[in-house]
Amino acid sequence: MDYLPLFHKLDGRPVLVVGGGDIALRKSVLLAEAGARITLVAPEIEPEVRAFVEARGGSCRVERYAADQLAGHCLVIAATDDDAVNEAVSHDAQALGLPVNVVDAPKLCTVIFPAIVDRSPLVIAISSGGDAPVLARLVRAKLESWIPATYGQLAQLAQRFRARVKTRFADLQARRIFWEEVFQGEVAEKVFSGQPQAAEQLLEAKLTSETATFRGEVYLVGAGPGDPDLLTFRALRLMQQADVVLYDRLVAPTILDMCRRDADRIYVGKRRAEHAVPQDDLNRLLVKLAQEGKRVLRLKGGDPFIFGRGGEEIEELAAEGIPFQVVPGITAASGCAAYAGIPLTHRDHAQSVRFVTGHLKDGSADLPWTDLVAPGQTLVFYMGLVGLPTICEQLIAHGKDPATPAALVQQGTTLNQRVFTGTLQDLPQLVAEHEVHAPTLVIVGEVVALREKLAWFEGAQTAV
Ligand code: SAH
Repeated sequence: MDYLPLFHKLDGRPVLVVGGGDIALRKSVLLAEAGARITLVAPEIEPEVRAFVEARGGSCRVERYAADQLAGHCLVIAATDDDAVNEAVSHDAQALGLPVNVVDAPKLCTVIFPAIVDRSPLVIAISSGGDAPVLARLVRAKLESWIPATYGQLAQLAQRFRARVKTRFADLQARRIFWEEVFQGEVAEKVFSGQPQAAEQLLEAKLTSETATFRGEVYLVGAGPGDPDLLTFRALRLMQQADVVLYDRLVAPTILDMCRRDADRIYVGKRRAEHAVPQDDLNRLLVKLAQEGKRVLRLKGGDPFIFGRGGEEIEELAAEGIPFQVVPGITAASGCAAYAGIPLTHRDHAQSVRFVTGHLKDGSADLPWTDLVAPGQTLVFYMGLVGLPTICEQLIAHGKDPATPAALVQQGTTLNQRVFTGTLQDLPQLVAEHEVHAPTLVIVGEVVALREKLAWFEGAQTAV
């Protein structure tokens, strides 16, 4: 982050604007919106600039800029077309430790103006750090169209009830949930549909009737295979609402970053053989956190119901009567296949697809090898790296053609994706040659050959 967004309280505070033309006027208008007391200095001041500043209670001084004018101000804006003056203002202000903005000269600034979406008291600031102001403005345009103009009214309504809600719900958690329901429920709907009085009555009723006890709940959410764009809308919404997040190694850091910032995060492990929190303890932890009244997000890679033990985790919740919901995610097989250009089924090559665990609990005895070698199907092995030599050996021993096309997809859908293709018999060698490591998905079947024509995703690494 190159700049830290802060909101500057300017109401009634003195700001110096150096410059007397159009640009100075534009900045003065913004400053006046925030209630700043403007002093404008320039050897020539356009009449409309003077009229504006004075109408807003500011003063204009027809003088050249000099460093001694800076004293007593809390913010300085240079908006002249004279580079030397702009530089001097920047230099002098910084020497005094004053925040300074020089219009269109990011290098001379210590603070910059963001693009603004104003739904006061709700204000959104967008910045590209001065690198791509047009992009920032485009983002603003999107937000403008996405956020109803009446959001400001909703925030004003909240402002009026804030103190009472605080008294009514001393507990921060309960208060947050109350407001979330207000902002996402009927009350907001009334405001948006132009019925502010009805909204106020509803809020009043909600405040006096609501019971103060909130029950916790658990969201078992699939985070997909890695690319954050593959999250579902619901996953994202719940990620931004949960109070505590339990995640394991498969969840990409970029995805974890999208959870509510102040949510507690608990790493529950799951590297092969490294169980940071054993499954039984984890199940109990989910119950315990929910019983404390928390909204608990159990975030899992891919889909929670595919080799994710999601079922086991919620069985205990169900037994304890704790409310939960399950949000599907894109499973590794779908994600990796799509991003590797390998259709899992194909009319000519594969009429079915099988998702198989490669985690061989009992040597090799626990997989139905005879079924797996049947023609016309694609096999996808999850957790198949460690057992790969056995898997290939057994498939071949049971009659699968050693020359069957096969692929390894490591960290599929992420920028680190690596794909290696070969044949069933040389898969273990590919792993050794390229130092392939987890998480990797193994795909076996004729469809793998289609990658040659259909590969499209490059990631940041060179694919083979
Ligand atoms: N519930 C998850 C699977 C968990 S099992 C899902 O639906 O995807 C863990 C295995 O999934 C890993 O050993 C690996 O084989 C596979 N896997 C998960 N994410 C992957 C990714 N981004 N790239 C390749 N394989 C992945």
